[in-house]
Amino acid sequence: MTAKRVRSVMIHILMAVAILSACGPAATEAPPAATEPPQAATEAPAATEAPAATEAPAATEAPAEITDTELNVLCTPQEQWCQGMKQEFEAKYGITVNYVRMSSGEALARVQAEKDNPQFDIWWGGPIDSFVAAKGEGLLEAYDSPNYVNLIDPVKMKDVDNQWVGIYVGTLGFATNTDWLAANPDVAAPTSWDDLLKPELKGQVMVAHPSSSGTSYTALATILQLRGEEAGWEYLNQYAEQISQFTKSGAAPAKFVGQGEAAVAIVFSHDIVNEIENNKLPLVLTFPEEGTGYEIGGMAILKGAKHPQAARLWFDWALTPEAQALGPTYAAYQAPTVKGVELSHPELLEVNLIDYDFIWAGEHKQEFVDKFTNEIAGADNLKE
Ligand code: PLP
Repeated sequence: MTAKRVRSVMIHILMAVAILSACGPAATEAPPAATEPPQAATEAPAATEAPAATEAPAATEAPAEITDTELNVLCTPQEQWCQGMKQEFEAKYGITVNYVRMSSGEALARVQAEKDNPQFDIWWGGPIDSFVAAKGEGLLEAYDSPNYVNLIDPVKMKDVDNQWVGIYVGTLGFATNTDWLAANPDVAAPTSWDDLLKPELKGQVMVAHPSSSGTSYTALATILQLRGEEAGWEYLNQYAEQISQFTKSGAAPAKFVGQGEAAVAIVFSHDIVNEIENNKLPLVLTFPEEGTGYEIGGMAILKGAKHPQAARLWFDWALTPEAQALGPTYAAYQAPTVKGVELSHPELLEVNLIDYDFIWAGEHKQEFVDKFTNEIAGADNLKE
């Protein structure tokens, strides 16, 4: 399928969703390092941690057969959305949610390291590529949710073996500091991947490192798919020369660029919208005209989950229009994956999208991240 065709299909699907919503309701690697030990106990979901009595919901709606009283969530989106979803789920079902926020690469490494004794029950958010990689290592539990019927595109948005599912869609964009543009009138905001290589932008581009960040891995895999592997790696070599500093988290470059630390950030467009609309940072959003990559944000139950009933309850809930409509309340402007939710920012999908191959990208994740880390740019001293 050509990029234009993909764009047209995506727009068609999502516009149909917007219309439906008016009628009512109807998702090398950081080496897992087999040798990497689980992180400090302070980061693990505290089994003993419970919300204060005053915060606990008065009534529970959890089905009677569910005896789990808590749920440990590995949460990859931004902190505000993680916190919001925790509170929403607790209020609805009376089940205590403990979560830890980690970028995709860190999350995958954690899941790999805890294979024999998982501390998390469910992994919610972050590009699906990491879930595909986790499935390949036998780390995920299949679950046949009754709410798969809600999905807009079950073929693209759900694993064939029910081991992962999509919970949002987001497109990659560029965020350029408008004060920097005003001070450099001969330079325009980039509208192609080649624009990032201009001499004027040397040392002025920020992006996360693909070993820690799913956002950055989506950019890497986008380049390889757009240009082919040989030309793609050559481009990535040149692109790394333009980077001022690699960050750990995928969304962070938009904030740093908005604060004037560099000129251009490569980030998911919904995160750029957040910085512009909510944090009032001086940024302009542009897209590469020859095509940009996109993510399906994922969700999966972890194999060996200690609270499987609560995990399945969260899984089902996260596939409802009601739960997905909560995103914008918590500054998350991704497009939904289920029918019956109004898009907060449909324009973020009305761009030229490549036919991103999530399975290919996931199956090569470790290999490509290792190559980038070993041959192009190491992952030491990532900016937090
Ligand atoms: N936060 C938001 C809002 C995202 O859209 C994504 C992508 O799924 C992430 C975080 C992933 O974070 P990272 O790139 O740090 O892995």
